[in-house]
Amino acid sequence: MIRDEQSLSRLLARLADGDYHSGDELGECLGVSRAAVWKQLRKLDDLGLELESVRGKGYRLAGGLEMLDPQKLRSALSAETLSVVSALDILTTTDSTNSRALERAAEGRTGYVCLAEHQSAGRGRRGRTWVSPFGRNLYLSLGWSFEGGASQLEGLSLAVGVALCQVLERHGLTGLALKWPNDVLWRGKKLAGILLEMAGDPAGACHVVVGVGMNLAMPPEAAKQIEQPWVDLGSVCDQESCQWPERNALAASLIERLVSLLSHYHRTGFSHWRQEWQGRDAFSGRPVRLSSGTRVLEGIARGVDETGALRLDVNGELVRCHGGELSMRAVS
Ligand code: ATP
Repeated sequence: MIRDEQSLSRLLARLADGDYHSGDELGECLGVSRAAVWKQLRKLDDLGLELESVRGKGYRLAGGLEMLDPQKLRSALSAETLSVVSALDILTTTDSTNSRALERAAEGRTGYVCLAEHQSAGRGRRGRTWVSPFGRNLYLSLGWSFEGGASQLEGLSLAVGVALCQVLERHGLTGLALKWPNDVLWRGKKLAGILLEMAGDPAGACHVVVGVGMNLAMPPEAAKQIEQPWVDLGSVCDQESCQWPERNALAASLIERLVSLLSHYHRTGFSHWRQEWQGRDAFSGRPVRLSSGTRVLEGIARGVDETGALRLDVNGELVRCHGGELSMRAVS
């Protein structure tokens, strides 16, 4: 298993330049036969990496690949952040980074950061799937402990959405918006999703795992599994003529911002973030439909209150709707 992983890493390191490499060359690099190389290359397909092969030239990963690199990441983090990060794991593949962080939370560990190149069972809300092909996007989870109960975490998932926008804006992106409770959109299409999961005692020492999935360069084949309009950073940057952020640099900026948010949230609460959220509200003043299972409620979205609840104007009466299981869509 470990030898297999090492072979896969060596293969990926060789293909990362985006150039063609012959089967013989790859076999030499791995110290195996051409047939064994082919077996390894099949694994890349399974991970969602789209490999091109041209007779006489060999194989290539079009566009190359910037693998997550623990040294690059650590050197981009401030001393303050590193002092509160208890561990930073980069996994080649895992079922879900949130699951890894929840396991650490169960061991009582706070400040745990986990990234993966690929998730085989990435999660969205309400048991839905987060499409997570290998090496192209970011899948990141942070585990944090809070004394004093889950009530301190009110609005946290919305604040995380603001934090993601702020990081992307610092990298030069414009036109980002937030869909309640916490999706990051660009021109109405989903660029990033957020999933918060809790463990521990809701009235005492509790743990929260903040999971973020952000599309950087979604391969078209994997994208076929996404059930709603989506976008990746690559196409946003192309259309906005902004500089493509490096994957490691962007991951480091996200960790830095989220660690800072989590370190201070017990003092700031959502009120500190509310105005920033409202400023990016994709649906303010628009007719929307909220649904949860078979229950449906329609009204005009009127921003969020100081706890992060959506204010829905239903025939002139203001109804406060609390996140979790609710799904919002525009009504045309
Ligand atoms: P809703 O849109 O109903 O409010 P949500 O926005 O909270 O739900 P999540 O639970 O965060 O959605 O994620 C699941 C939804 O996101 C599914 O509709 C799924 O098709 C879509 N999705 C899955 N993977 C991706 C991805 N990589 N990029 C964009 N959207 C995705």
